[in-house]
Amino acid sequence: LKYDFCACHLATGDMLRAAVGAETPTGLKAKAAMEAGELVSDEIVCGIIAENIDSPKCSKGFILDGFPRTLPQAEMLNTMLEKTGASLTKVIHFDLPDDVVVKRVTGRRIHPGSGRSYHTMFKPPKVANVDDVTGEPLIQRKDDNEETIVTRLQSYHTKTSPLIDFYKQQGILATVNADQSISEVYKQVTSVLPGKV
Ligand code: AMP
Repeated sequence: LKYDFCACHLATGDMLRAAVGAETPTGLKAKAAMEAGELVSDEIVCGIIAENIDSPKCSKGFILDGFPRTLPQAEMLNTMLEKTGASLTKVIHFDLPDDVVVKRVTGRRIHPGSGRSYHTMFKPPKVANVDDVTGEPLIQRKDDNEETIVTRLQSYHTKTSPLIDFYKQQGILATVNADQSISEVYKQVTSVLPGKV
């Protein structure tokens, strides 16, 4: 999607993991919550988004991935957008039963250098645990385990799912059935967005 729309990809989880890895003050504050599968404070994540949203790399648009995750974050985002003059085109709700989420997350493997992701069953690499392109080892995220995913799903249902109605009321919500193949989900997402570049 980022290439289709020449948009920058702002994934709060990726940015927080980079901060944890670099042991920045933000990373040190976020580490414990992330490892436990809990949400990081609204102030921290909104600060990260505010630093990036009007940077030159985002001048053609942005994809917010994993943000907002709470109503206060969504309200702070609206305030940021009012200041920059930008607006949200669509909010995509990937609809997926919890048991499928658990299977997808526990089997996920990642190539840390590029962010390419694989799945042990649904999208295995050519050689087990090795990136197809670079031949480098894949990793499993620390929070991609069955215990932590329970907490992450609880956070989703209590704090994030109210955003579905919030954005429905604003008339910009699109629900995509994510319980389908990668290519089918991609097709549905592009069909609800205005023309690809
Ligand atoms: P993700 O890579 O999107 O699955 O995020 C990994 C972890 O980073 C989450 O479980 C949270 O601990 C934290 N995180 C990422 N985005 C947010 C957000 N918008 N609000 C609060 N915590 C977040």
